[in-house]
Amino acid sequence: MGSQPGAVRTSQHESRARRADRSVDGTASKARARILIACAILILMFAPSDVHALGRFSWGPLLVRFEWAGSIMVTILALRRAEPHGARIILIALSVLSTALYGALAFLTGGAVSPMFHWILALPIIVGLVLPDLPGAVVGCGFAVMLCGSAILGAANESFWTVLRWVMQAVVVTSLVFYASATYRRLRMRESRPPDAHEVAAARVRASEAAVAARDEFLAVAAHELRTPLTSMLLHIEAIERTLPAETAADETMHVPPTEQKRIAAVARQARRLSGLIDSMLDVSKLTGGHLSLELAEIDVAALVREVVQRFTPDAAAAACPLTLRLDQPVKGVLDATRLDQIVTNLIGNALKYGAGAPVEIAVEGDETVIRLTVRDHGIGISPADQQRIFRRFERAADERQYSGAGLGLWITSELVKALGGRITLHSSPGAGASFTVVLPRRPTTLIERRRSGARSAGHG
Ligand code: ADP
Repeated sequence: MGSQPGAVRTSQHESRARRADRSVDGTASKARARILIACAILILMFAPSDVHALGRFSWGPLLVRFEWAGSIMVTILALRRAEPHGARIILIALSVLSTALYGALAFLTGGAVSPMFHWILALPIIVGLVLPDLPGAVVGCGFAVMLCGSAILGAANESFWTVLRWVMQAVVVTSLVFYASATYRRLRMRESRPPDAHEVAAARVRASEAAVAARDEFLAVAAHELRTPLTSMLLHIEAIERTLPAETAADETMHVPPTEQKRIAAVARQARRLSGLIDSMLDVSKLTGGHLSLELAEIDVAALVREVVQRFTPDAAAAACPLTLRLDQPVKGVLDATRLDQIVTNLIGNALKYGAGAPVEIAVEGDETVIRLTVRDHGIGISPADQQRIFRRFERAADERQYSGAGLGLWITSELVKALGGRITLHSSPGAGASFTVVLPRRPTTLIERRRSGARSAGHG
């Protein structure tokens, strides 16, 4: 069975996030346990204040204090085994129980006149401080405060308005603390939440798109800067090539040894290769930036292809590829001559490179509506798995050590074919050569109409 690296990565990421969560939770629950123990100790330490409030010792308040401290200790033990959801319920129950026990203490130490009574309003604040990310506990405590306070005031025969004022005070305090606690919880959850797998994927896509855009921009600038010195270099090389044979024949003192001639030829070849690569880079930037402009005119495609084939004659001889040309005469169409030249050049160049040592057949035929150009070689061929991706940018299928190249030619070719309203297809299998067929509309109506309508709308605007 095939493994899925993406899925494995996501599950590793999730388990890492879970481990991190557990360690954060562990630290938080230890801190919470320490605070709760401190509360239990304080509850017991303040037992003498009951004697002071009552003016005598009474077992009632002391028992309530023991019960309260005991319930806190039991809660700490229960929390050790509880799952996060269970722990929240236990803590909410503790905050309600604590409020009720505090109310009982207030009742037993003087009710409405007990010094403890008016502090009861501080309970939601204390719960909010001890359990800052548990707004449910604040609400539970607030309700208990309202009930206990009303019961104590009712038992003291206070007026309805006094009870109502009490309830209002409890509601206001509880609401404020609830708001603070809920905000704190929301912020904490946002901070501790592991990044969502989709967010991570989207961030990666954004980063790689930005990297691709930066690369394209760099390529465009580099190609532009390299073009000027290289053009002048090529002109000089061509001038040397043109003058060499005449001078050597005319004057023996100007004789250039064959090894030097070979070197000059090699320099010329490499300079032309570099120039081709720079042209490709410029085309890439034009195509990706949507700046490709077409010069449409009626041309004879057969004549154009014959011209390109003639240009390739020395290269074909060097690659030991007999070139066969089958042309319908003439094949006229409304096309961009420069771009069509580029398409034919790329396809024949590839056929000679990947089909060296075997014949290359080129055919042009036309009917009423379309022109069909086929370039067929008998070289290394392309496996079915690679036949789609080689039309993408920088994609290559051949052995890098044996065949040099940038992986741009077919992408540029297919983009140009698309721009001319046509399509390119490939038939090939490994070892059996490759046959590329370009089908172009004789008259790219969609393009012309698009331009006309563009011009019309510009005129109207
Ligand atoms: P380059 O030739 O610079 O690598 P291309 O975009 O022209 O770039 O071609 C992309 C890839 O397609 C090549 O690397 C090669 O693997 C494959 N390819 C193109 N044309 C042929 C062909 N005629 N025969 C075999 N493979 C080819």
